[in-house]
Amino acid sequence: MKPILFLCLVISLVSCNGFSQKKDNKGTTYDIVKTNAEWKAQLTPLQYRVLRQEGTEQPFSSEINKIYEPGTYVCAACDTPLFESDSKFDSGTGWPSFDDYIKGNVLFSKGSGGMYGTEEHCATCGGHLGHVFNDGPRKTTGKRHCINGVALKFVPKS
Ligand code: FE
Repeated sequence: MKPILFLCLVISLVSCNGFSQKKDNKGTTYDIVKTNAEWKAQLTPLQYRVLRQEGTEQPFSSEINKIYEPGTYVCAACDTPLFESDSKFDSGTGWPSFDDYIKGNVLFSKGSGGMYGTEEHCATCGGHLGHVFNDGPRKTTGKRHCINGVALKFVPKS
């Protein structure tokens, strides 16, 4: 029994290492760099899955969907301001949607394109936020930043 448990432990450690190395090799340097264990300790399981493992929350599951008051949406992992309330719109998708972002604070990677659009992530901690699509409001930017609410925190203006 014991050797089997040991083997499972080794396999899980090796696979974790392999995963983190892949994430770190994107070639981007971030101001905030933490180990997977540190992120796990800081974030909720869903936040960890979305921000650190590029997961996607269930549509219509985030309270952020219902917020339309003035303020700023910051990264749930590192508090970097990412989106302003005046760029938020109801896309009907069930995910918080914005037609613009705070320049310099959001990075885009073309690697995971296709039907999921271009991936976007926090420029400070590298956390995965969502994807950007070209079917946003035509009167403004034409972009739809489809963001996981769990990756954001809302800071009211007042
Ligand atoms: Fe961040």
